Amino acid sequence: MRTHNKDSQSTTTPEIALSYLREGNARFVNNLKANRNLLEQVNETRAGQWPFATILSCIDSRTSAELVFDQGLGDIFSIRLAGNVLAEAVLGSMEFACKVAGSRLLVVLGHTSCGAIKGACDQIQLGNLSTLLNMIQPSVYYERTVTENRTSSNPEFVDRVARIQVLRTVEGVIERSMVLREMVEQGEIGLVGAMYDVATGTVDFIEESWMCGHVRHFYVDASIVGTSARKEEAMAARRAAPRPAVAEIAAAPLAQPEPQPQAQAPLQPQVPPQPRPRAATAG
Ligand SMILES: [Zn+2]
Repeated sequence: MRTHNKDSQSTTTPEIALSYLREGNARFVNNLKANRNLLEQVNETRAGQWPFATILSCIDSRTSAELVFDQGLGDIFSIRLAGNVLAEAVLGSMEFACKVAGSRLLVVLGHTSCGAIKGACDQIQLGNLSTLLNMIQPSVYYERTVTENRTSSNPEFVDRVARIQVLRTVEGVIERSMVLREMVEQGEIGLVGAMYDVATGTVDFIEESWMCGHVRHFYVDASIVGTSARKEEAMAARRAAPRPAVAEIAAAPLAQPEPQPQAQAPLQPQVPPQPRPRAATAG
């Protein structure tokens, strides 16, 4: 399989980029890995890289994006943080990957049986891990269908929270990055969420999360949780707020501050914290 180059990247649309990933995962689950010489690809990419997609996934050892999408060197930008949380540095990496390096598709990839999600469900407190898990807490809050056993011992609950975490992260990309939002609105890049099943190797793209030429919302941030009317009001205010054109963004000095990101402050847990130390659950 050929390494992506400048020409192939420039002719790849967001839809084509998505099809590359779908085809790659189909090869992966059918054990039909593409025939590629990685050492040859080292030579082919020595002068530069033109990846067609950028994938934010979990650090889980079973969810390597290059492997589950059957991609080679120079094909995708891979960003990995436990629970695929959206830190500032992640947004900066995405902006580099898309605006500077020409990637055409952004994917937020969650997965089943996620240790980080389990930690958030159990309100684990442990050093710096607490900060990370607090970023996931709103997803636990937004899961309202499971009324009993809202802990890591309930796999269905954990996977529902993981899916919400994906959608919140997708929404966070367009809410917190004007650069990426403009690119999505203008159809320059596609943005989509997906769930990887660690039991089957299958990636399920969440169709309703697909954005290209338009943006959509799934949840509101913790800071504006309230009635649906309040939500609509807040969203309308955001839509009405003047935003600079892409050219202005590109011309702006690097020190130009972005709009204050919406706080991802943890919500009050629905049940009293019951710290239950767990061994090696991260990832
Ligand atoms: Zn995980």
